[in-house]
Amino acid sequence: MDFNDNPEEATYRAEVRAWLEANAEPLLPGESASTVEDGDNNEIIALAQTWQAKKFDAGWACLSWPKKFGGRAAKGMHSVIWRQEEKRFNVPPDIFQCSVGMTGPTLMAHGTEEQLERWLPAIARGEDIYCQLFSEPGAGSDLSAVRTRAKRDGDDWIIDGHKIWTSLAQYANWGILVTRTDFDAPKHAGLTYFIVDLSSPGIEIRSIKQISGGETFNEVFLSGVRVPDANRIGDVGNGWRVTLTTLANERGAIAGAGAGKISIAGLIKLASRLSDDAGPLIQQDSVKEKLADLYMQSRGLRYTSLRTLSALSQGKKAGPEGSIGKLGAAIMRQEMTAFAIELQGIAGSIDSLEVGVEGSTWQSGYLFSPAARIAGGTDEIQRDIIAERVLGLPREPRVDKALPFKDIPIGR
Ligand SMILES: Cc1cc2nc3c(=O)[nH]c(=O)nc-3n(C[C@H](O)[C@H](O)[C@H](O)COP(=O)(O)OP(=O)(O)OC[C@H]3O[C@@H](n4cnc5c(N)ncnc54)[C@H](O)[C@@H]3O)c2cc1C
Repeated sequence: MDFNDNPEEATYRAEVRAWLEANAEPLLPGESASTVEDGDNNEIIALAQTWQAKKFDAGWACLSWPKKFGGRAAKGMHSVIWRQEEKRFNVPPDIFQCSVGMTGPTLMAHGTEEQLERWLPAIARGEDIYCQLFSEPGAGSDLSAVRTRAKRDGDDWIIDGHKIWTSLAQYANWGILVTRTDFDAPKHAGLTYFIVDLSSPGIEIRSIKQISGGETFNEVFLSGVRVPDANRIGDVGNGWRVTLTTLANERGAIAGAGAGKISIAGLIKLASRLSDDAGPLIQQDSVKEKLADLYMQSRGLRYTSLRTLSALSQGKKAGPEGSIGKLGAAIMRQEMTAFAIELQGIAGSIDSLEVGVEGSTWQSGYLFSPAARIAGGTDEIQRDIIAERVLGLPREPRVDKALPFKDIPIGR
């Protein structure tokens, strides 16, 4: 394994860096880029759209897309280099993970020529924002259990159902939607996939207040929503295949979504500047022991992720071992933020940008940390993937797989 850029990657990195330096301000030490939860979100969304259009005009917006759709056909490693470099600049948040990272590639795999022409240009330039209408109150880890019903009516479909945890739906104008069109078929076979205009009559979006104070995700109620058959992606009953394409791309789109200012270096720095009655915290055995433990975890994760990068650099694809990084990083982030709060003593309970020990860095990180253990596949699902697809252990029994969906027992 060689963790350094090869000559071609180094040239690419220099090109990326030069463009970013000419078009964005670098982050100052200790400064972090804005997120959707801070301040006036409409303003941030507009800034993100302008930044996306600027990147598109310069050919940096949809790196992995084919050139004919405005992309660069970039290799996996090039996308990683772009993310590493862009993170060093004060640019608006990437609110296009669902649009560019998931919907675009799904359309390219399953859409008709007409659908590609209709939707891709506005996705690429950031003019349209998409959200992912997949999870439901009874379908999350087991997404194939969705109950939102789509019923054919002439050239349209009538949709009724309830989606939940839909990130950024309140800012999106389109949604990718998985529905059930056949309740007699086994659960994976009766699904159909649509693109829905969120301004359609019958759609109600209600935001969910999070423990962190933010409102980034929503419930979406669909009552008698009319969706043209022209918005169906793939064949009727073939929605699971289309969904799998979206989910495969989701893993790539959210991989590397950074932990912001939460780092082991930051934690050691925090411990170095705090004291209690027994003296400087950094000199106390229990603190040193915990820091050493977290340091080892963070090194392990770093080398695991470098192993993936090394594979990408050799033209290989990221495999199921990515679940190790996702699982480990989410658990470590929760442990680090909890320990940082403990180190701050009574002041740790203050979650305030103005008077917190380090603003609200550790407190807001802690409040978000459970979400990171759920989004993109829960801890248990990552463990299943590692067990079955990395270690080759026997698969979990899937007793309801062949039953007609309507006969699968559900709790009431
Ligand atoms: C920050 C965030 C953003 C999100 N954004 C979106 C979005 O934009 N669009 C969208 O559609 N969804 C979104 N989600 C929802 C997310 O995909 C689901 O929360 C996730 O798939 C888990 O589903 P669930 O919440 O229904 O939990 P469940 O699947 O009901 O799981 C409950 C518990 O049971 C465990 N469990 C479930 N199945 C198994 C199993 N087979 N073996 C062992 N344990 C199991 C789980 O690990 C968990 O602990 C988001 C979630 C978060 C946290």
